[in-house]
Amino acid sequence: APAAPSAGLVGRLFGTAPAKPEEPRRALDDEMLEELEDMLVQADLGVDTALRVTANIAEGRMGRRLSATELKELLATEIARIMTPVARPLPLYPKKPQVVLVVGVNGAGKTTTIGKLASQFRAAGKSVMIAAGDTFRAAAVEQLQIWGQRAGVPVMVAAQGSDPASLAFDAMTRAEAEGADLLMIDTAGRLQNRQDLMEELAKIVRVIRKKDPTAPHNTLLVLDATTGQNALNQVETFRQLADVSGLVMTKLDGTARGGVLVALADRFGLPIHAIGVGEQIDDLDAFDANDFARALVG
Ligand code: GDP
Repeated sequence: APAAPSAGLVGRLFGTAPAKPEEPRRALDDEMLEELEDMLVQADLGVDTALRVTANIAEGRMGRRLSATELKELLATEIARIMTPVARPLPLYPKKPQVVLVVGVNGAGKTTTIGKLASQFRAAGKSVMIAAGDTFRAAAVEQLQIWGQRAGVPVMVAAQGSDPASLAFDAMTRAEAEGADLLMIDTAGRLQNRQDLMEELAKIVRVIRKKDPTAPHNTLLVLDATTGQNALNQVETFRQLADVSGLVMTKLDGTARGGVLVALADRFGLPIHAIGVGEQIDDLDAFDANDFARALVG
């Protein structure tokens, strides 16, 4: 490297750039692995996944002296390896309308995500319709209408408290008649009454299958990153209520780094279609395994 301009003649000859201080190194031993495990559990990876990740890092490396940079690199690589198979955008089918059922607990970000997705599909030249299937929550219907306006997409609504399945049926009829590419159906997220919700979702699926036996083509579960480990329970629960085909994780713009996604990928292997990174219409990103791993490791 060229010497600094202030270097004297001799300095120029020998090079005066101070040697970079060596990064401290630590031997990879049981103690370090245990600390690493704790750190990963705290980052919401869950015990099973944390153990698997540390075991993979340990393999063939015990006793080796690692710098923080090297350890970060190993960790990021290991996490990216788990996440790469699940990083898959929402698949688009030639089927018209492609029916996307959106499920998740209240507040997870279903409405917002539907609005963002609608906007992206519109931008990609698709015609989109939305059905406000959470007919009990007037506020949810209103929010969805606002998102529909923002995205330039029609929102089908029904009288408050009316049967969501009949709304879904009407929405299918209209989407077919108008040749819409996509129909996104919002659903209720009242987990307090699981039995009710299960029946409601099953009925929606039943009636749309009368129109198209292959529908719904996707059942998206929307999860809130700030709920941490709770996301695991939500996936367990919603998989019993509906045939969940993929995930969207919202609110990754805050302090939550979404470590639970690693546990989810490791345990369920469900595709992660997108991540929410804010409250605005463009704040929905594709899920990138490498970017995610690097951000998580920090
Ligand atoms: P729903 O009850 O599942 O339909 O949830 P909403 O879509 O109404 O979202 C609940 C709250 O979370 C709203 O205040 C949204 O603005 C907010 N929200 C949704 N997605 C994101 C996100 O990716 N980042 C942030 N910061 N807020 C979000």
